[in-house]
Amino acid sequence: MRSYKIKNFLKELPTYGVLYQREVNEIVDAVCPRCNNEIEDWYHVWKCERNEVELEEILYEAIAEYEEILISDDKKEEVEILRDININFYETMLTQSDILLGYSNFCEVTRIWVKRCDEVAEIEKDRGIDLKKEKKNRGG
Ligand SMILES: [Zn+2]
Repeated sequence: MRSYKIKNFLKELPTYGVLYQREVNEIVDAVCPRCNNEIEDWYHVWKCERNEVELEEILYEAIAEYEEILISDDKKEEVEILRDININFYETMLTQSDILLGYSNFCEVTRIWVKRCDEVAEIEKDRGIDLKKEKKNRGG
């Protein structure tokens, strides 16, 4: 149940890539507003050079923690499987998020996203973009 929620949370993040595709007003391109280096897709959010925490670090920790649990439970087969899924962090995050993203790690991931949103909001303010603008009646 939780992993279902996490997967959906992760997949539906409104990155600039997503917003641009949805033709959201005022989003003129899909480039990451923070670093201006790449299209801001789902992968880029986590590997953007502007992140203070690296997703890899979080996931390495998560994998190491989980591995310890498995070893102490003497589950050798699962340890092998865990070492295999180590290969692609981002795919793993989506497909195995129930294993890798325990509560504390999920909080870390959420923090990366929240930080990204704060920064982007500042950038949008500088650019004169206001996506949160509510439609208000003009006079009358
Ligand atoms: Zn970026």
